[in-house]
Order: sequence, then structure tokens, then C-alpha cells
Amino acid sequence: QVIFKGYIERAPRETDMEVRIGTVEVKTPKGSGAFLVKNLYLSCDPYMRGRMRDYHGSYIPPFVPGQPIQGFGVSKVVASDNPDFKPGDLVSGITGWEEYSLIQKPEQLRRVQQDDIPLSFNLGLLGMPGLTAYAGFYEVCSPKKGDYVFVSAASGAVGQLVGQLAKLHGCYVVGSAGTSQKVAKLDKFSIASASSTIIDYLSITLQMMLITQFDIYLTINRYFPEGIDIYFDNVGGDMLDAALLNMRISGRIAVCGMVSLHSLSDPQGIRNLFNLLTKRIRMQGFLQSDYLHLYPKFLEHVINNYRQGNLVYIEDMNEGLESAPAALAGLFSGKNVGKQVIRVAYE
Ligand code: NDP
Repeated sequence: QVIFKGYIERAPRETDMEVRIGTVEVKTPKGSGAFLVKNLYLSCDPYMRGRMRDYHGSYIPPFVPGQPIQGFGVSKVVASDNPDFKPGDLVSGITGWEEYSLIQKPEQLRRVQQDDIPLSFNLGLLGMPGLTAYAGFYEVCSPKKGDYVFVSAASGAVGQLVGQLAKLHGCYVVGSAGTSQKVAKLDKFSIASASSTIIDYLSITLQMMLITQFDIYLTINRYFPEGIDIYFDNVGGDMLDAALLNMRISGRIAVCGMVSLHSLSDPQGIRNLFNLLTKRIRMQGFLQSDYLHLYPKFLEHVINNYRQGNLVYIEDMNEGLESAPAALAGLFSGKNVGKQVIRVAYE
């Protein structure tokens, strides 16, 4: 098990979690509707940092110190007292960071199929980050063909899909990534699996840029001499401030995440908000959980495009439950290249 040690007010570190090896007895009381799963893949997501604070006013409760971390996973049912979930069924939803979990809230999981799409994609392309990209781009950004689109953290779980959806929509897209090594790696991944359709995506990554703290405004401006219509903001902070200066009149900013915050009570000191007024920009925060009704439409869209070769999806797969604490902490220093997933066991 990976145990949450105690509350923090900063970005998570590996030492905030403890890998505990031992045997836990699990009972499935008759008539409880509970079932036991073997966890195959676990997801590391930036929102989990919010659950490490001793704060109960959020949309999701904090983790319980001394208990396993909770998060999205893909699992196999091994024993069940629930007629809707039979041994052998594959499920995706909220589970524990442990080899086996007793699921007492079956409504937090759905059955998934084993088909031509990797099972672990249920945590990324077909899961919560995918819906975030889809809802954020189509519902919040009001995109039009030909729009100039800027995406931050563009190689990550959400960003890589936003960039590709925007490209498919006929937009000009530029993404930012944190290191030149990350950009190079992304390009290499795309080349390694190159096909005529994937090359479209490659042209996004080729335009990715390495941004330093000092010249963010100028760097963005070089790629958008005529300004930005849509900024899909995954990071907040200095990048948001610089993007504000580069926005065009009637631009849209989707506030998806603020992973750059050092502490969640950090006011960030954004200086260029006046641009909202002068350029009549619409800036809107959103939560993917408000768009769950779009899930079937979203799945159809991404699965069709994936099968047609119009979308690729890059994962950063760590092996073994014991690698999970470092992988989660790594999200906040940009260690992940693509969607961060932990393989706990082979299918
Ligand atoms: P990613 O896979 O993109 O991983 C996080 C990335 O954030 C890192 O790889 C790094 O990319 C970047 N990053 C980390 N620390 C900093 C920093 N201090 N300054 C700038 N960039 C940093 O994560 P996701 O795609 O899962 O999530 C992206 C964003 O979307 C997050 O802010 C998350 O909270 C938000 N989100 C919002 C949802 C919603 O409903 N609104 C739902 C899901 C996610 P790089 O090295 O390229 O900078």
C-alpha cells in the first residue's frame, strides 16, 4: 500500500507517502454489495495535491492520514458480493493505492472493455483528463476554424489532447513544455510511431518551445505575432500573465488548472488582468465534473479519431506500486512526459 502520511501546504514530495509492505485481511460482508479488485493501473493527477491539504471546503474531501492514497485506477474484479460486478470484470474509477482494494462505493466505478485501445488509456485519453480537454476546449473556449490557440503544459495528460483537438478543428496551435528535453522526447515519440496522420500532431510538437522565466511574453509573441484567440491555461502564474498580454480582442481563456502555484493559498500576483477589459476577453474556470453528461459524446469523438489515426496519446508509465510516490511528486516538477500512470500488475 502507499500510505498518506499527513497534511501538507506545499507541492507533494515522495516522503509525504510511505510504501507499506505486508498483509491486510479483507472481509466482504454478505449483502454489502462490496467487491474486491486487483489494481492494474493507477493514475497520478495534479488535483491529488488538493486532497493532501487539511481543507474540507473543496469539491472533494482530503485524504485520511494513515490510509492508502485514493485515486483513479483500472482494476480487475477478483471477488464480489455485487451482482453487477462479476469476478473477471474490468473496471475503472476510484480505487486505493494498493495491490488489492475493497470497493464499497461501486457507483464510483464503471465497467470497461478490453479491446484495441490500451486499458490504461481509461485513466487518460478516455478518462478524466480526456474529458477535461474535450469539455474545456469545445464548451469553454468556443473555438472557430482558424483560431490561434495556445496551450500550456502541452505534453501532459490534458494538454496533449487539447492541442490535437484544436488542430483537428482547423486551428493554428502552439504548445509550451517545460524542458527542451521534454520537447525533443515528444517529437521522438511521434516520429517513432509516424504515419501520415500522426505527422499532423508532430507539427504541433515541432512548434513547442522552451520558455524561460525571463522572456515568456516575447517568446509567446514570436509564435503569435497576431495574438492569441484561445489560451488553454493548465499552469496559471507567469505564463497566464504573459498570455494575457498576447491575447487578441474577444479572446477566450479557459482556466483549467494552476499547477504552478507553490501553495494553494498563493495569490499569484497576476498583473495583466486589465487586458480582460481592454480586449473584451472572456476568462472562464471550469471543472470537468460539470460536464459528465458529455461523456458518451466525448468517448465517441476521441475513440473514432484515435482509431482513424487522427489522435495519438503519450503515457509516462512507471512500473510498480513502489514507484507511485515519486511519480506523483514528479508532476509538480514536470518530470512526467505524457500522462503519468503506474502499472501495478500486468493484465
Ligand atoms: P500534466 O500531465 O500536464 O502534468 C503536470 C505538468 O504541469 C508538468 O508535467 C509540467 O509540465 C507542468 N508543471 C508542473 N509544475 C509547474 C510549474 N511550477 N510551473 C509551470 N508548469 C508546471 O497534468 P494534467 O494534464 O493532468 O493536468 C494539467 C492541468 O489541468 C493541471 O493544472 C490540473 O490541475 C488541471 N486539471 C483540471 C481539471 C478541471 O476539471 N479543471 C481536471 C484535470 C486536470 P511542463 O514541464 O511542460 O511545464
